[in-house]
Amino acid sequence: MVKQSLQPNKVKAVSLDLNKELISNNALKVLHRLNKSGFQAFLVGGCIRDLLLGIRPKDFDIATNAEPEEIKHLFRNCRLIGRRFRLAHIRFGRELIEVATYRSSAEPDNEKSKRDNKGRILRDNVYGKIEEDVYRRDFKCNALYYDSAKDCVWDFVEGLNDIKKCQLHFIGDANKRIQEDPVRMLRAARFSAKLGFKVDSKLTGQIRRNAGLLNNIPSARIFDEFMKLFQSGYAEKTFQSLLSFDLFKELFPETDAQIKNESNLKYFIEIALKNTDLRVQKSQSTTPMFLLGVLLWGPISNKAHQIKLKSHCSKAQSLLMASYDVIGGHQDKIAIPKRFSGIMREMLVMQAKFEITTDKQAKKMTNSRIFRAAYDFLLLRSMAGDCPKEVIDFWTNVEQQTNHKVNTKYKNNKISRHKR
Ligand code: ATP
Ligand code: MG
Repeated sequence: MVKQSLQPNKVKAVSLDLNKELISNNALKVLHRLNKSGFQAFLVGGCIRDLLLGIRPKDFDIATNAEPEEIKHLFRNCRLIGRRFRLAHIRFGRELIEVATYRSSAEPDNEKSKRDNKGRILRDNVYGKIEEDVYRRDFKCNALYYDSAKDCVWDFVEGLNDIKKCQLHFIGDANKRIQEDPVRMLRAARFSAKLGFKVDSKLTGQIRRNAGLLNNIPSARIFDEFMKLFQSGYAEKTFQSLLSFDLFKELFPETDAQIKNESNLKYFIEIALKNTDLRVQKSQSTTPMFLLGVLLWGPISNKAHQIKLKSHCSKAQSLLMASYDVIGGHQDKIAIPKRFSGIMREMLVMQAKFEITTDKQAKKMTNSRIFRAAYDFLLLRSMAGDCPKEVIDFWTNVEQQTNHKVNTKYKNNKISRHKR
C-alpha cells in the first residue's frame, strides 16, 4: 500500500471540541494501565470520529504496540479472540473494550498474511507500528488516534478534514481496499447513513462496480454486518443508502427486484424500518427476526401465492412452505441462525391466521408467544395498504383487550404482593 505521511499532525483535543465527558472510564483505565507498563496505547476509530461529531460512541476500541499475550498478562478480565485478526477483549461487566495490536501492511508475500485469489485478506496477524496500522484502517475519518495522557489527536491521513467536511474517503486506492475486504462497502453505506457523510460519485461508481464481491464473504459475517446495518438506529437511511450503492440487491436479490415494481412493498419496508429506528431511540428491544421478516416478506408472500394457486393447501400452509423455501434459499447470502428463522416463520404464518376473525381464533392466537410481534407486523402491513380494514380493526381491538388484561393482572399482582 502506498504510504502517505509518516508524521502525524498532532492536534490538542481542546481545540477540536472533542467531548471527553462521553469517554468510557473503563477505556481510560485500560489506556492508563498499558501506558504505565511502558506501552503506547490510543483510543482509535469510530469512537474518536463520533466524539468529534458529538455522538455518544457505541463502543471503544484501543490500538497499542503491546502484543496480545502481553495484553492478556496485564488484565485478569482479558480474553484473546479471533483467528483472522487476533484481538484482546477486556470485559468490565456489560462493557467490552477491544484492544488490537498495531498491524503491519498485509502484503501478499508475507507468510502470516493470507489472501484468496480475488485479493481478499483471509488472515493477517503481522504486527507493526502505528505508522503502518493507520493505513490498514478503512476510512480516513476512522483513522484518528487519541492520546489520553497528552490529550491530543494524531491525524496521519487528514481524517480531521473529512470529519469537518462531512465526507467519506477510503485510505489509499478504493478499488484495492474494497477487494481486500468487500464488507467495507457495507460499512460505507452504514457510515454515510449514520453520519450523513457525502460519498462522491467516483467512489459511488467504484462501490457499484464491485458490489458483486460481497458474494465471496462468508454468510455468517454478512449476518453480523446485517445487524449493525439495521439495528443501530439508522435502518431506514441505511436501506436507502444500500439501494443507492446497488448493495441491497446483493443481500436481498428477490426483494430488490420486487420493490422496483411494487411501490407499496418499498413503502412497507420503509415504515417498518422507521419504526425500528424509533424503538432504538426509545431503548426498546429490536430483533433480527422481525427485520428479516420485513425484508423477506415480499418474496415469501409472492411464493406463497404461487404455491396456493398450484395446490389445494391453506394460505397458512402455503406461507409456511414459502418461508422454508425463501429463507433456505437465502442462507448462502445471510446465514440466519435457527433461533431466529423458526420464530420468524411462525410470525409470517400468523399473517394468514389473522384473516380468521372469530373469538375462538382470537383466544388461540393471543396465547402464542409470537402474537405481539405478529400483530405489530400486521399493523405495518395495514399501514402499507396490505391488509383489509375490518381485519386490522378486529385484531387491534383484541390486542388492546389483551394488553388491558395483562396490565390489570400485573397491577393486581403488585397490590396483592404489597398487601402480603
Ligand atoms: P461503529 O462502532 O460506530 O460501528 P467503528 O468505525 O468503530 O463504527 P468498528 O467495527 O467498531 O467500527 O471498528 C473499529 C475501527 O476498526 C474502525 O473505525 C476502523 O478504523 C477499523 N476497522 C473496522 N473494520 C474494518 C475493516 N473491515 N477494514 C479496515 N478497518 C476496519
Ligand atoms: Mg466501534
